[in-house]
Amino acid sequence: MIYRLWQELKEGWADIIGLIYPHTCAGCGQNLVKGEQEICLACLLEIPQTNFHRDSQNLVWQLFRGRVSIAMAASYVYFDKGGKVQSILHSIKYKGNQNLARQLGMLYGHILKQDHALEEVDYFIPIPLHPLKLKQRGYNQSEVWGEGLASSTGIYLLNNNLYRTENTASQTRKSRIGRWENVKDIFALKRPEEIQGKNVVLLDDVVTTGSTLESAAQCLLDSGASKVGILTLACAVKI
Ligand SMILES: [Zn+2]
Repeated sequence: MIYRLWQELKEGWADIIGLIYPHTCAGCGQNLVKGEQEICLACLLEIPQTNFHRDSQNLVWQLFRGRVSIAMAASYVYFDKGGKVQSILHSIKYKGNQNLARQLGMLYGHILKQDHALEEVDYFIPIPLHPLKLKQRGYNQSEVWGEGLASSTGIYLLNNNLYRTENTASQTRKSRIGRWENVKDIFALKRPEEIQGKNVVLLDDVVTTGSTLESAAQCLLDSGASKVGILTLACAVKI
């Protein structure tokens, strides 16, 4: 009885707080209703899913062909400049919305599990941020997204082995070759023995040119991983 009263008081209080500080959707900015967290149901249904995991030679896999040997590659959604996915990524990366990253990871994990897309994967490995950036932001968005993926797939998130050896300059204004020179050998493993013969999947928030992921994948293969796959939240690959 007391517990129920407490629950009702708590919910009532949450509703009042919601009126004063409305919790809004990270995709469309509309107020969220009860049961919705960080993103509204309409946005969840509307975000453009790629379903790349059902096509082994999809756009992301093709991006790495001839560059580094990738066992599988997929992205949850297509990046839409100025659209909902961009707002969602912005919220995850710059507004501290870790709950949203986790929630989207969990949802994508369910889809991948249902479609048997991650059979025999030993570890998820998020692309690490440079320590300085991590300190500024307070969290690694790819790792938080990975927590969600790990919770719904049961695959272990190995987040303290791969690391960045140096801080790379901003990549936005560099050519593809320039970018590759910039990210070559920027990753290393603290305990290479941990991934010997393992089937690992790299996680990143967005794939654009793929040069960072390529460098990390090469590092893992050179260190003895048997297979390396790639998963990203969004795909911004230009055709
Ligand atoms: Zn929305």
